[in-house]
Amino acid sequence: MTIRTILTEPNKLLRKISESVERVGAEEKKLMDDMLDTMYEAPGIGLAAIQIGVPKRIIVIDISRDENKKEPRYFVNPIIKNKNEEKSIYEEGCLSVPEQFAEIERPNSCEVQYLDYDGKKQVLRAEGLLATCIQHEMDHLEGILFIDYLSKLKRSMIIKKLSKIKINREIL
Ligand code: ZN
Repeated sequence: MTIRTILTEPNKLLRKISESVERVGAEEKKLMDDMLDTMYEAPGIGLAAIQIGVPKRIIVIDISRDENKKEPRYFVNPIIKNKNEEKSIYEEGCLSVPEQFAEIERPNSCEVQYLDYDGKKQVLRAEGLLATCIQHEMDHLEGILFIDYLSKLKRSMIIKKLSKIKINREIL
């Protein structure tokens, strides 16, 4: 397993729409292993393949936040079947938008259909943080970041800040 570099905004790849996976083979499994390692190392609770530069519809999630009781979840080609009308608000962050947080409103539960690590079809009813996390990660597959839900002004301030950080990093 390999820790991969996480792309950060602004980066055109993060805006790319990811492509469906035809079958879950050895290459996809290796990618999922790398994604999980990269996510744990960061640390984060979710990661989409495009965040490490691979435009495939794959996400990994572990909301357990428990070193000793890891609960990794793998979603290939996830599709949301049902969304609850009721909304909940979480303060979201993103490994591709470092050190920025904002309150985002999303449906508080959803049903998601996907292929698991072994390529088997699954359906999951998710609530609370898991539902929010799935929706956040699935947005990445469409090239959407959580800051896109903010006002134009707020978003451009964040991107400006991140660009500065990036430039500084390159100078040093
Ligand atoms: Zn994210």
